[in-house]
Amino acid sequence: MARRRMVYEGKAKILYEGPEPDTLIQYFKDDATAFNAEKRDVIEGKGVLNNRLSEYFMTGLNGIGVPTHFIKRVNMREQLIRAVEIIPLEVVVRNVAAGSMSKRLGIDEGTALPRPIIEFYYKDDALGDPLVTEEHIIAFNWATQQDIDDMIALALRVNDYMSGLMYGVGIKLVDFKIEIGRIFEGDYQRLIVADEISPDSCRLWDIESGKKLDKDVFRQDLGSLADAYTEVAKRLGVMPRVGNVATGPKLVN
Ligand code: UDP
Repeated sequence: MARRRMVYEGKAKILYEGPEPDTLIQYFKDDATAFNAEKRDVIEGKGVLNNRLSEYFMTGLNGIGVPTHFIKRVNMREQLIRAVEIIPLEVVVRNVAAGSMSKRLGIDEGTALPRPIIEFYYKDDALGDPLVTEEHIIAFNWATQQDIDDMIALALRVNDYMSGLMYGVGIKLVDFKIEIGRIFEGDYQRLIVADEISPDSCRLWDIESGKKLDKDVFRQDLGSLADAYTEVAKRLGVMPRVGNVATGPKLVN
């Protein structure tokens, strides 16, 4: 049997060569890391949940015309994706103050922001992914002004879609991170959503209780991470079939 060629291994995922040109297989590991990998653990089942959840979000985004790299899920832990040239930026959208923004600006966690705020972080583990401005991005050639405008438009559309979806199942989308990649079509390039969208890269708070249902459960030792992600999946109706009955979305009154 031929061995698959690994293209890249990150903290939570592995990329393998895909079956066709310009495709990759994205494998979701159970590894959890936080604080730039200073804290790490293996959370059984996390990879399966994130594979499912990312499939669900990206399929929905594709369906409303927000382009993503997702093609199809191939098994419990793997999905077929389009190969992209990743822009070396983490694009964060915030609706509510939390995490690094609360610390940096002294705003209480949970304060609603007057409008969604977009931030860019330069992807560099050695530097701890520093916050950068549009000036840095353009001066250092990480992306053009047109790319930045396109990234902002994409990020806001993802925010509206994800916020609405989560609100429908009683969850507040506090903030999230996406990564964006370039694909080339003849003389043109297009930016599409890449990487993953999952509770690893979002802050999700139960609207009623404020309970955290995202990676902060791991970062802050608040209980079982797998249980939190399972709760999100269940509410969205994304859980694998239980017996022969598909679990449907549980709408909140
Ligand atoms: N985030 C992420 N990967 C990172 C940094 C942040 O997915 O390397 C997500 C994080 O889960 C949160 C949002 O981006 O939903 C904003 O994170 P923040 O800047 O507050 O940093 P943190 O407090 O997570 O260090």
